[in-house]
Amino acid sequence: MLKTHGYAAHNNHSPLVPFSFERREPRPNDVQIEILFCGVCHSDIHQARNEWGSSTFPMVPGHEIIGKVTALGGAVSSFKIGEMVGVGCLVGSCRTCSDCKEHLEQFCNAATFTYNAPDNISGGSTYGGYSSQIVVDQHFVLHISDKLDPAAAAPLLCAGITTYSPLKHWQVGKGDKVGIVGLGGLGHMGVKLARAMGAHVVLFTTSASKVDDAIRLGAHEVVISKDTEAMQQHRLSFDFILNTVAAAHSLDSFTELLKRDGTLCLVGVPDHPHPSPAIGNLIFKRRKIAGSLIGGLKETQEMLDFCAEHNIVSDIEIIPIQQINQAYERMLKSDVKYRFVIDLASLNADGVGK
Ligand code: NAP
Ligand code: ZN
Ligand code: ZN
Repeated sequence: MLKTHGYAAHNNHSPLVPFSFERREPRPNDVQIEILFCGVCHSDIHQARNEWGSSTFPMVPGHEIIGKVTALGGAVSSFKIGEMVGVGCLVGSCRTCSDCKEHLEQFCNAATFTYNAPDNISGGSTYGGYSSQIVVDQHFVLHISDKLDPAAAAPLLCAGITTYSPLKHWQVGKGDKVGIVGLGGLGHMGVKLARAMGAHVVLFTTSASKVDDAIRLGAHEVVISKDTEAMQQHRLSFDFILNTVAAAHSLDSFTELLKRDGTLCLVGVPDHPHPSPAIGNLIFKRRKIAGSLIGGLKETQEMLDFCAEHNIVSDIEIIPIQQINQAYERMLKSDVKYRFVIDLASLNADGVGK
């Protein structure tokens, strides 16, 4: 077994603290990875605090993982020792159901999430990227272009694919007017990706202080979503709106901005439900409210390659792992521009070695 160090939550209300555990030795199809960087997703906070009611402890969060291959199982031929690779939200699925066959592993009933999920290979629970190393089946490991800065590429593994996948599914492109709601980790990737896909991009934010940044990141227009008059000026004009907000709020002010047959897609997962939407907003213009969950492995690789081609990475603030608890508090105040990324070399400072 491989001695591994990380940070864990031991219950839903205490700070994360240093934690040692063991990873499995690589099996024939496994890739062993030294973790260099791990992005901090709002889902990590939801789960460390058991806001979705499905947490098991101890929990090592983290599903935006970038690292270097340190060992390979005998059946692995598509990765090399020393190669930069990524691991996102998924480390397993059945590989045989219709979802898996259509490269939509995220919807597989047997999907294994990177942390806080039953580990059906080693037993116990899966442990995520706030740690020194990870061992993952090659099907769930992504190639990272050397054109991408490794630290800034980490958030692509969740924030990137979670916004790319719905933009592609709803065929966003040139001539479309697209809204992105919330300028956080997901939202800022949504702005960059929708812009690169050729859409006219409008960013909705509750934070007046983010207006200039939103334009710099690629938005054509910015609307303060609390400004009812500014919102009304966009009525009936959007083809698609992607809502990334992590807290419950009324959806009506966004559904009424959609054109006939337009879609409001939710990717934020608040701990409390949104108020029930006004049905009239939906039926009179045949509008839809939809949802989307990360993306499959094939599409995640496609997104990483798209980002390398279009020079897209996340805007990040690198932190040592010892600052993870303060980072959570700052994210809750929307005080992050626009993704925290943990430099795992900082684990050495705890005297446990990496
Ligand atoms: P984040 O970095 O904290 O960003 C969320 C943004 O939402 C904030 O920056 C803020 O933007 C806005 N916001 C926060 N509280 C708000 C409130 N009370 N009212 C209105 N707006 C508010 O979070 P994230 O990492 O992007 O994650 C966002 C959500 O997506 C989380 O719920 C997360 O669990 C979920 N998620 C879902 C998937 C999926 O597959 N569906 C994948 C990853 C994450 P402004 O300051 O611009 O208003
Ligand atoms: Zn995430
Ligand atoms: Zn399956």
